[in-house]
Amino acid sequence: MPSPSAKPPSQPKPQPLTGPQKALAKLGLRRDIDLALHLPLRYEDETRIVPIQNTRDGDMVQIQGQVTHSEVTLAPRRQLRVTLDDGTDTCVLRFLNFYPSHQKTLSVGALVRARGEIRGGFVHREMVHPSFKLAGGELPAALTPVYPTVAGLPQAYLRRAVLGGLGRADLRETIPDVFTSQNMPCRLQSLGEALSFLHHPPPDVALATLEGRTHPAWQRLKAEELLAQQLSQLQARGVRAAMRAPPLLKSGLQNTQCSLHDQLLERLPFRLTPAQQRVGSEIAADLQKHIPMHRLLQGDVGSGKTVVAALAAVRCMDAGWQCALMAPTEILAEQHFRKLISWLEPLGIQTAWLTGSQKTKERRQALAMIASGQAMLVVGTHAVIQDKVVFKNLALTIIDEQHRFGVAQRLALRSKMTTADEAAGERCGQEPHLLMMTATPIPRTLAMSYYADLDVSTIDELPPGRTPIVTKVVSDARRAEVVERIRGQIAEGRQVYWVCPLIEESESMDLVDATETHEALSAALPDTLVGLLHSRMPVAEKKAVMSLFTDGLMGVLVSTTVIEVGVDVPNASLMVIEHAERFGLSQLHQLRGRVGRGAAASACVLLYSTGDAPRLGETARARLKAMVETNDGFEIARRDLEIRGPGEFLGARQSGAPLLRFADVQTDAAWLAWARGVAPKMLAQHAALAERHVLRWMGGAAEFLKA
Ligand code: ADP
Ligand code: MG
Repeated sequence: MPSPSAKPPSQPKPQPLTGPQKALAKLGLRRDIDLALHLPLRYEDETRIVPIQNTRDGDMVQIQGQVTHSEVTLAPRRQLRVTLDDGTDTCVLRFLNFYPSHQKTLSVGALVRARGEIRGGFVHREMVHPSFKLAGGELPAALTPVYPTVAGLPQAYLRRAVLGGLGRADLRETIPDVFTSQNMPCRLQSLGEALSFLHHPPPDVALATLEGRTHPAWQRLKAEELLAQQLSQLQARGVRAAMRAPPLLKSGLQNTQCSLHDQLLERLPFRLTPAQQRVGSEIAADLQKHIPMHRLLQGDVGSGKTVVAALAAVRCMDAGWQCALMAPTEILAEQHFRKLISWLEPLGIQTAWLTGSQKTKERRQALAMIASGQAMLVVGTHAVIQDKVVFKNLALTIIDEQHRFGVAQRLALRSKMTTADEAAGERCGQEPHLLMMTATPIPRTLAMSYYADLDVSTIDELPPGRTPIVTKVVSDARRAEVVERIRGQIAEGRQVYWVCPLIEESESMDLVDATETHEALSAALPDTLVGLLHSRMPVAEKKAVMSLFTDGLMGVLVSTTVIEVGVDVPNASLMVIEHAERFGLSQLHQLRGRVGRGAAASACVLLYSTGDAPRLGETARARLKAMVETNDGFEIARRDLEIRGPGEFLGARQSGAPLLRFADVQTDAAWLAWARGVAPKMLAQHAALAERHVLRWMGGAAEFLKA
């Protein structure tokens, strides 16, 4: 036996990932089974060669013939034109971009196989930018798969990776026979059969059944996926139902005492909207249960989630328990802190403040107040979940802008809160209730499968009296007009945000952008205080700038995206976003939501620049168009999914979100019904198989689901 001091054998150093490997990881394709489940978007038929004579305009075909002519012409523009003759007829291959290697392969006399879309007809056929190679070798027996991919991951590499994964993956059946013979919408193939078929279908397959995902092989995958989803939700529900939380009843109050909740409600300067009232009662009902609440509160930017959170917090205090509120950035946490203090202090409630940047003495004081229970509410950044924080009796945790926290942090939150509770002894094993808030709504069809076992409350209306924000897309060349517009707003006593993008690869670049803009605006608006805010400023300086703006002393705030989430300055009426083409859609919507919070008409200017390119890329254009066309966060989320398409869509899997990739809860309702029926029986009678099944489909995400 090695002595205890012996060093563990040195581990081989992990090799750095190559570009394509990184791209695979980005798609969530880590395990063999992930690769095997990465299904083609479409197929190319390289199994046949069609005589040129038989091709028609618009056909996608493969042809083969001898090069009889090859030339580079200059008019109407420079291009390579190659004539292919197969004995039945000729076809011209045209290339607008080409390399010397193209010309070499396609030299006169070569026998070439080309694949593409035929244009023209009987008299003059051509293919523009066909794929091609020298003829020879056998024709493949199956259709060639084309997989969803991302930049930096070539099809050929991905095909090899998938083929390898398919060969190695454990595809043994997990669904017991009894379940595949009962109440089935149709007979099921085995998983192995179905996957081999879908990756390499025979050429005579009815393509419509693959594209429409109605083929029996597709049915098998949809059934598997829906079953995995049902199983994981059941597991998660089971785990939560076994957990205990303190029911928050108004027991601590005397009959004559008016609850903090009612007092706060009375003092608010506005009336709750019906939507706020509805979600408030949904939360209240959860808080009275013995099972920990696990609720997502979603509402568009500016819909008034903070006050709903405050009302939940005072309900918790009414029952005699502590509440913690956590925000992703210090600025946002501080803003909550101020707002909550202004609401709660008059009611005699003490609040503690916790962040990473705090002085030791201040922090020690806060920790003492939290441990003694003197502070009924704790507000802060993720400093709130650190080990040293021990609560006297925490019963409710609220996380704002939860999508900004990583899965790991959300997990840490739950486990650390439990540890903290256990330190308090008597309530060993209890969990706090959890309320998560987000302004990035999940489209309704995805909400149920996004997080297993998560209840969702939605604020679906804005407070009255808001005028919709008018959004304009403006070329960078017209900056001067935008500055004029700012002048106008300032003259009316309004305030303005100017946001510059954060360039990940080069943090210093983003500073140049922001500082240059700051200087230019300061010079153009000599009578206005123009502030600058970026992520690398010391916290104290950030706070000072932010409070000048919040207090209305600063007319224009130039910032990088640090202000993205949650900041609330109702007097701000104009948002200018520089290089808007570089932002994601939901980020643009969040930024725009910083204005239009008061009654004044507000506007958002999306400045774009095409750089050296003649025009904006297609997806950037689609994003800006969506911003102009709608102010509705749900519609924005839907368009976002549509624009991002399958590649990035799959990327969402990494975040632990078990999105349905293959099945659709509407079109596959019959399979959903089957899965609902089978899941509880499978969990009860075949627990090990159920576990394997969930692991196969959810992989690393399963860990998250159980949390
Ligand atoms: P978000 O949902 O984006 O977090 P906030 O909670 O910051 O929104 O609320 C946006 C603004 O609307 C705040 O200034 C808030 O005080 C105000 N507000 C919230 N609820 C109402 C209401 N029912 N009537 C009028 N104003 C409201
Ligand atoms: Mg907010």
